[in-house]
Amino acid sequence: MRDGIGSPAPHPGDGLRFVVQLHRARRLHYDLRLEVDNHLVSWAVPKGPTLDPTVKRLAIRVDNHALDYFDFEGVLPAGQYGAGDVTIWDWGTWTPGSGTSPAQALAGGALHADLSGEKLSGRFVLLHTDRSQARNNNQWLLIHKRDASARNGWDASQFPRSVKSGKTNDEILAEHRFGTD
Ligand code: MN
Repeated sequence: MRDGIGSPAPHPGDGLRFVVQLHRARRLHYDLRLEVDNHLVSWAVPKGPTLDPTVKRLAIRVDNHALDYFDFEGVLPAGQYGAGDVTIWDWGTWTPGSGTSPAQALAGGALHADLSGEKLSGRFVLLHTDRSQARNNNQWLLIHKRDASARNGWDASQFPRSVKSGKTNDEILAEHRFGTD
């Protein structure tokens, strides 16, 4: 295994799972999905998660996904919502911050999550912006706390390969086009 590439998928018995899918749809983004109460609570992060604690990333809350989407890597066909190629950019398990349930934390607009993945690790916080507009505001911020996993200057684009297959999105797309998968 190199840089976590080809790492086995986390199993349900390992704890709550998370996945980050690198998705080239109309715009490239990283879909961060946390397992909560048998579904995947999801945010689209245009610039990707980062270990840099000085950076706040915009994270757009999107529809929950079913758990069976967890390990999807491939191409969503043209004409379908989200059409484009998807790779498993990172996966692993996560632990909610103590003192509250994940569902309560989400409703309250501040979720602390300790991630243990191949690329991402340490304490992240998701903060819902502008609580007065909570009902029609899907904008959150994704921030890495200053802890032992924090790395100044760390950027998701430096680590483009899938942890599932070792492939890039270009390679997944090419295989799809030429029917070799
Ligand atoms: Mn997406």
